[in-house]
Amino acid sequence: MKRPRPVVALYPGSFDPITHGHEDLARRALGVADRLIVAVAHNSTHDKHGLFTIQERVALIEEVFKDEERIEVKSFQGLLVDFAKAERAPLVVRGLRAVSDFEYELQMAQMNQELWPEIETIFLVPDVRYSFLSASLVREVARLGGDVSSLVSGPVLRQVKKKLKRK
Ligand code: ADP
Repeated sequence: MKRPRPVVALYPGSFDPITHGHEDLARRALGVADRLIVAVAHNSTHDKHGLFTIQERVALIEEVFKDEERIEVKSFQGLLVDFAKAERAPLVVRGLRAVSDFEYELQMAQMNQELWPEIETIFLVPDVRYSFLSASLVREVARLGGDVSSLVSGPVLRQVKKKLKRK
């Protein structure tokens, strides 16, 4: 008997750094997919406000999910649809925190469909505790000396502190 193919989903983003909101979403994604590839995008337009390099972000995500063998971490350059084709993963997972995410996410999903009709985007909703949480807020609060210990996991917090001390 032919076994159904495992469902592989892609979770793309900048993850600078990975927050509890991203973690919550990735774990939820494993409820609908057999495997998840967390895909860190090289995105030059955001780089000037960036905190971690792509390699550092990948390493932090790997550390956070080290006990989760169904999650793999990769980085990609260029179009998401090209990466999704190469990985044979036409299922993209994105998060919707609030109405403000909706318009951008809808545009992206429809543009991706235009570029590759087979791609599907599914939206997952995080625990309400993380609805206000974004990586950019974490960076900003940390840069201004605020406490972000309830927003990111231990290894991330340590690296954020180290990075800001050096800057
Ligand atoms: P941001 O800089 O906005 O935190 P990313 O570009 O890394 O985010 O986001 C990747 C994906 O993760 C997006 O679909 C975004 O909506 C989602 N995401 C980010 N933070 C959260 C959160 N707190 N809860 C749910 N989804 C989130």
